[in-house]
Amino acid sequence: MTWTPLDCHAHSTWSDGQLNLDDVLVAVRARGVRPSIADHVSRDVVGAVDSLEQVEAYLIALEQRDTGRSAEFCWHDSLWREIPPDVLGRFTHTVGSLHAVWLPNGTLQRVFTRSWPDGLTPHDYVVALLHNLERLAAEMPIDLVAHPTLLPIPLRAIPAEELWTEADEARMVAAFLASGLVFEVSSRYRPHERLVRRAVEAGVRLSLGSDGHAAEQVGVITFSLALTRALGVPDEDLYDPAVHGRRGL
Ligand SMILES: [Zn+2]
Ligand SMILES: [Zn+2]
Repeated sequence: MTWTPLDCHAHSTWSDGQLNLDDVLVAVRARGVRPSIADHVSRDVVGAVDSLEQVEAYLIALEQRDTGRSAEFCWHDSLWREIPPDVLGRFTHTVGSLHAVWLPNGTLQRVFTRSWPDGLTPHDYVVALLHNLERLAAEMPIDLVAHPTLLPIPLRAIPAEELWTEADEARMVAAFLASGLVFEVSSRYRPHERLVRRAVEAGVRLSLGSDGHAAEQVGVITFSLALTRALGVPDEDLYDPAVHGRRGL
């Protein structure tokens, strides 16, 4: 059998995607990519799967189709804590995301916002992100972390190699390595090469993710695959839950 890339992370109308489930699967396969649906399961994303009852209905819809079955949980929202292990076991893999991080003063800083608290430096945010990631690794029964370098809007223009110190990168890589979490190389929220290279050299497993929400995005993992190949990662080493198993269970 020839290897075919797996998009571990795409959205449908079960949350904030534009295409229904079947149309996502057709669009992803048309790109020569195997699909996984990873809709938002959270009470803090508008239009998401936001109750245990809805999780059940969502899983049934996925189980009726030939697709990877996943869910993207928000670290800062508690719904994932309420999902029983037998329900988590019906997913092929689960995804956790730092769509917001807790700051040392107990407030929440979100990523999809332009508001920025007085007195917080950009590097303070990176340190808080790393602390939240370490807590996520200890508490969250997930397999992979989506877009681990996603930042609040005001920070996105800062060159990553200046915002992240090499010590920050080493701390992030250590959190992945110690926990067995998979590092998503997102084609939507792209990690910088220096960090991904460090993860590869340490032996962290990577996944491909389009994080697509629209027809022209789902299954588009071109950036992700070009980077993993440029860094010498064998295609077969890229995360496939059927091959590499699950950490979250
Ligand atoms: Zn996300
Ligand atoms: Zn997503």
